[in-house]
Amino acid sequence: MIRIAIQSKGRLNEQSLELLKDAGVIVDSLKRQFLGRAEGFPLEVLYLRDDDIPEVVADGSADIGIVGLNEVAEKNADVEVLRQLGFGRCRLSLAVPKNAGYEGIQWFEGKHIATSYPNVLNAFLAKQGISATVRTIMGSVEIAPAAGIADGIFDIVSSGGTLISNGLVEVERVMESEAVLIAGRSLSDEKQALLRSLLFRIDAVSESRDKKYILMNIPTDKVDEAIRILPAMRSPTVMPLAAKGWSSLHSVVKEKELWDKVERLKALGAEGILVLHLDKVIE
Ligand code: ATP
Ligand code: MG
Repeated sequence: MIRIAIQSKGRLNEQSLELLKDAGVIVDSLKRQFLGRAEGFPLEVLYLRDDDIPEVVADGSADIGIVGLNEVAEKNADVEVLRQLGFGRCRLSLAVPKNAGYEGIQWFEGKHIATSYPNVLNAFLAKQGISATVRTIMGSVEIAPAAGIADGIFDIVSSGGTLISNGLVEVERVMESEAVLIAGRSLSDEKQALLRSLLFRIDAVSESRDKKYILMNIPTDKVDEAIRILPAMRSPTVMPLAAKGWSSLHSVVKEKELWDKVERLKALGAEGILVLHLDKVIE
């Protein structure tokens, strides 16, 4: 049995459960308690506040966990970061009121900065040689300047909308974050074997998430050029069509390259292009 700590509610909860589900580990979220037993894998789920996850994994109360890299950095927990999971993307940034006349990091010298991430901030300020007063506030950090509590803030930013609506501008990006899978450093052999098998499944899910299966009809004399646009896992599949002079070409593409490639394939004469969802990719 292996025990995973995930966020009990909040921004990472749903996608953590979905990743487990896609990996064949089903957790009944309706019956969610403090500790739940999964179906489909010998795994227990411990539901916690995200702040507690790094330490609980470091001290062995849970074997592995899913949490933002920002929390791992802030808690400075002795855990291994095994995988970046591609969701919960955000950054930790310094922001100041938009009319503050900010010209560079020196602006912060002698200032007060409000944050829920004092450790990450202090490490950054020390590296930059800036001495400022760090005020730890556990929530609504973005209102601190308007409330006269601080001159600037250091907080999570994703779209930047919260900053704008509070009259702030992002001035320094300090750390990029996303959800990560972490593990304790002294797992038993049995737990390590379970972890390997869970990682195998998670990798298959992650591989499939940014890829699409693509198939199309293409004039046979254009197949070589099309293959240069579409290198597949090993090599694309090419099959003759009943119609003479035409072939069917199947491959896998990265989602972010999809539209560019589709345009180039259309220019080559490809027709009937189908793009399909991939459920798992096992390489
Ligand atoms: P908890 O009650 O578990 O302590 P929380 O309020 O501290 O929850 P959430 O707001 O649910 O935390 O955010 C959890 C994590 O989601 C953050 O630590 C961060 O890694 C990530 N995240 C991604 N985008 C955002 C965002 N726009 N705002 C806040 N967190 C984000
Ligand atoms: Mg929290």
